[in-house]
Amino acid sequence: MIIDCHGHYTTEPAQLTEYRKAQLDGLAVDPSFLPSRADLSISDDEIRERLEPAQLKLQRERGTDVTIFSPRAVGMGHHLGNEQTGYYWAEICNNMVRRVCDMYPDKFVPVCQLPQFPGVEPKKTIPELERCVNEMGFIGVNVNPDPSGAMWTDPPITDKWWYPLWEKMVELDVPGMLHVSGSCNPNFHHTGAHYIAGDTTVFMQLILGDLFKDFPNLKFIIPHGGGAVPFHWGRYRGLAQDMGKPTLDEHLLDNVFFDTCVYHQPGIDCMTKVIPTKNILFASEMVGAVRGIDPETGFNYDDTKRYIDGTPNLSTAEREQVFSENTLRVFSRLKL
Ligand SMILES: [Zn+2]
Repeated sequence: MIIDCHGHYTTEPAQLTEYRKAQLDGLAVDPSFLPSRADLSISDDEIRERLEPAQLKLQRERGTDVTIFSPRAVGMGHHLGNEQTGYYWAEICNNMVRRVCDMYPDKFVPVCQLPQFPGVEPKKTIPELERCVNEMGFIGVNVNPDPSGAMWTDPPITDKWWYPLWEKMVELDVPGMLHVSGSCNPNFHHTGAHYIAGDTTVFMQLILGDLFKDFPNLKFIIPHGGGAVPFHWGRYRGLAQDMGKPTLDEHLLDNVFFDTCVYHQPGIDCMTKVIPTKNILFASEMVGAVRGIDPETGFNYDDTKRYIDGTPNLSTAEREQVFSENTLRVFSRLKL
């Protein structure tokens, strides 16, 4: 069984992105513009036409059984529009992901985005989280630790600002992938810099805080291989030690997990050497972040199963942990 814990709906029909554009265009012309809830006419065929030659074809070719599927990450754009447009946008994106999962129930399982907005308390996203989990069977949530879009104007994730959301996630028993979205800061390219910096940043926030003392059952996945964390594991162990914190193992590793969206063999070799196997979840983030073929290998950069198969650091039993067992444990609502 191979579960990809990190896939986005990047092949959405044009009507969805047109709705978002109309929202944002309306606000650009008139800041008091009040958008209506999305009421899109999209046929099943239109969904199939774009999904079949992309995510579904690649699942088949690469041997992925099921993908944990969420709305396009850069599309969340929490820093764009206003609170109300963001709410309607999250609703329609989550509804579309649910629809895809209903059409392909063996291939996709849904994870939601939240209607976050910079400066607005995360607790205001709870109704949408509850709707997704309780009414629509979602098994996890993508939480943007920086809804300002690379300006980092909201408090760190260990701040009480976030606590109502963490309480609700524990109550609902859903893990959160800490996944940033687009960047409005020209210093940070979204997938190349903001994503990787965001992953690294939240890990350091967790070292500095004591979040899991208050939430021993809260579970986070740090995507994109944990950003710079595995490569700099010694730095983080040393910083924790200098600050008189418990070891990373005691402090964080019952609650924090890393995915395998690292797009070359030496990166996965490093990760599987330094991060305990129980904390690694298989993922590819296809189709989206990096689309090309690596001329050094002849395979797509995001064909990450090859790197897990190819690393000398995992036994057969450990590969099974990475490919499915860890994910089934972290996403406790996932029943296959
Ligand atoms: Zn992603």
